[in-house]
Amino acid sequence: MQERGTRPRWGAAIAPPIRWPKGIRAAVCLTFDLDAETAWISRDPENLRRLAVMSQGAYGPKVGVPLLLDLLARNGLHATFFVPGWTAERYPDVVADIHRQGHEVGHHGYLHEALEGKTRDEEEEILVKGVRILEGITGQRPVGYRALVELPTTWILDDGPYFAYGIRPPLYRQIYPPGTVLATWKDEFRGMHALSGAFTLILHPQFIGRPSRVLMLQALIDYVRTFSGVWLAHGLQLARWVASDAASAGTDGRPLTAPAACSSTAPATGAHARASSGALSRRPSRRS
Ligand SMILES: [Zn+2]
Repeated sequence: MQERGTRPRWGAAIAPPIRWPKGIRAAVCLTFDLDAETAWISRDPENLRRLAVMSQGAYGPKVGVPLLLDLLARNGLHATFFVPGWTAERYPDVVADIHRQGHEVGHHGYLHEALEGKTRDEEEEILVKGVRILEGITGQRPVGYRALVELPTTWILDDGPYFAYGIRPPLYRQIYPPGTVLATWKDEFRGMHALSGAFTLILHPQFIGRPSRVLMLQALIDYVRTFSGVWLAHGLQLARWVASDAASAGTDGRPLTAPAACSSTAPATGAHARASSGALSRRPSRRS
C-alpha cells in the first residue's frame, strides 16, 4: 500500500502542478455555491410556481448554511461561498453571517446566469450588479469569481452530479448514497495528494446541507487531516498564493522552473495535467 505523503511511482509521469508553500504538499479548498432558488429559476422561470422545487433551493440558505457554518467553525476551517446577487438580496442576513464568520464571499453572477452568448456589456452589467449587492452587505468588494486565477474544478468533485434531483428530466435520476460519494472523494483526494494537486470541492448548501451529507463532509475532513502537509484554504488564499512570485506558476498552471526534487520527472502536457492533477492556473476561465 502507498504510504501517505510519499510520491507514488505512477505519479512520476506528471510534474507537481505548482510550487506550494514550505511544508505543504497538497491543498484542499471547500467552496460552496449558495445558488438557492436561482439554480432553478435561471434555467426555467416556470419553476417559480413550483413550490417543491423552490423549497429545495431555499433549503440551502435556510438550513444548509447554518449547519455548514457550524461544521466549519467546529473544524476551524474557512471556506469560500459564491453567492448570486439575487440570493444575497433575498437572504442578506445569511450572507452577512457567512462574512462575519470570516469566510470569503465570492461573486456568482446575479441570477446564476450562464455567460455563454452574453455580450461584453451584458456580462459587465451582471458583474457590477453583483459586486454592488455583495459589497452593500459585507462592506467588502468580492474578489473571488472563478475567473481571476483559475481554481481547477471537475465534475467528480461537485456534489451536483451525485445529489441534485428534480422531478423532471434531466434531473429525474438516482440520488447517490453519501457513503458512495465519500468513498469516491477519499480516493480522489488520496490521488491528488500523491500528485501534489489542489482538491477543490464545489458544494451546494441545498444538496450537501442535508444531515447525512453534513456528517459525510465531516468524515471527509477527518480523513484529509490524517495526511501530511495538507493546506485547508479558501479560494482567495489559494488564488493569492498562485498569483504570488513564490508560487512561480506559469499560464498553464505549471511551475515556471521545475522544483529540484522533481527535475528528473518527465514534463506533461499542460491541458491534460491540469485536468487530472488539480494544477492551479493563471489562465482566465469563465464559469457560472
Ligand atoms: Zn452555482
